[in-house]
Amino acid sequence: MAEAARAAGRDPASVALTAVSKTQPPEAIDDALAAGLRVFGENRVQEAQGRWAGRRPALPDLEMRLIGPLQSNKAEDAVALFDVIETLDRQKLVGALASAAAKLGRSPRLLVQVNTGEEDQKAGVAPRDADAMIAMARAQGLTVEGLMAIPPADEAPILHFALLARIAERNGLSTLSMGMSADYEAAIRLGATHVRIGSALFGERNPGFAPSRD
Ligand SMILES: *Cc1c(COP(=O)(O)O)cnc(C)c1O
Repeated sequence: MAEAARAAGRDPASVALTAVSKTQPPEAIDDALAAGLRVFGENRVQEAQGRWAGRRPALPDLEMRLIGPLQSNKAEDAVALFDVIETLDRQKLVGALASAAAKLGRSPRLLVQVNTGEEDQKAGVAPRDADAMIAMARAQGLTVEGLMAIPPADEAPILHFALLARIAERNGLSTLSMGMSADYEAAIRLGATHVRIGSALFGERNPGFAPSRD
C-alpha cells in the first residue's frame, strides 16, 4: 500500500489501511493486531459487537469503522461501538443517528455512502442527491467527514473514484473511503484517504458469506 502511494506520488502516511475483518476468525484478528493494525472495518453491527466489545478496553488506539448497511433500529448500537460510520445512505438514518448521538453523548464521524453507479441493488445516495444529504446531516449537528463508495463490479472503477472525489471537493470533505483489494491502487491514484482491504490481507473469506443488513 505504501508502495502504491509512492507510485502515485503521494505520501504513504496520507492513506490509511482499514483492515476489513468481517467473517474472520479470532486468530486472524489477533494476528492483525499483533502486526500493529489498529483500524478495522466491519459490515454488521452485531457481529462487530461480539468480536470487538471485549477487545476494545485493552486497545485505546483502536479505530472501528462500520462499512456495511445500517438499519435505523441499530443506530444506537452502532453509535456506541463505532468511531466512524461510513454508510450514511438515506435520510431516515440522519434522524436516527442524531438521536442516538444525543442520547449516548457520543458522535461518530460519518461518511456519506454514494451509489456512484446508481445500481438498484447497492446502498448509497445517488450522486445528484449527495450534496443535499451532506447538508441535511450537518444541519442536524452530525459530523460529516467524507464519502464512501463501492463501484460497480463490472466497470472500470476510475470514473467512479473520480466522481466521488469531485463530490467531496465541492462539499469541503477531506476523507475518501474508496478502493478494496482489487482496485486500491487506482483508488489511491485518485485520492483515496482510506482503502478497505479484506481478502488481500486476510485471504479469501468464507464463500458462503454475503453482506446483508442485520
Ligand atoms: C468486504 C468489503 C471490503 C473488502 O473487500 P475485499 O475485496 O476483500 O478487499 C471493502 N468494503 C466493503 C464495504 C466490504 O463489504
